[in-house]
Amino acid sequence: MSDEDEGRQERHAEEPEPATKKPSYGTLWRRANADRINARRRERHANDPAYREKQRARLRGRYASDPEYRERERARRRVYDHTRILQKHGLSREDFEAMLAQQQGACAICRRPFDRTPCIDHCPLTGWVRALLCSRVIAASGITPITPHFSPRHPSICSTGSST
Ligand SMILES: [Zn+2]
Repeated sequence: MSDEDEGRQERHAEEPEPATKKPSYGTLWRRANADRINARRRERHANDPAYREKQRARLRGRYASDPEYRERERARRRVYDHTRILQKHGLSREDFEAMLAQQQGACAICRRPFDRTPCIDHCPLTGWVRALLCSRVIAASGITPITPHFSPRHPSICSTGSST
């Protein structure tokens, strides 16, 4: 198998196109000019509402008809949404991973291992993040539970884990 054939197979995984034996001149040209083409597409997407709407409709169609693409998009969105929530609390992904490791992947109050995305418990007065809790504890307490403070912005006040 030649390098060219391998290249084609990889492309096929992303974007099926009619099967031909050799890459066409157009395919080779597009491959060689990918950066320029993408830059032009980005610019058009930013400045041309009709083009933007057409692209959106195309992706909506793919989302509806291609389960694999849908699953990939959902996973991407989950990560994106979670990152936004972390940002709201002044946490980086590393902060979050560190807290999760410190709590050994379990809820800070009921100690059960997380089976879903942890809730970020924060002090209502200062906004500082205290701990990661499961949704069961949050739902059962009805009030904001009292847990040790953790603040990446105010590390001197941190007192996580000292109670055990
Ligand atoms: Zn819990």
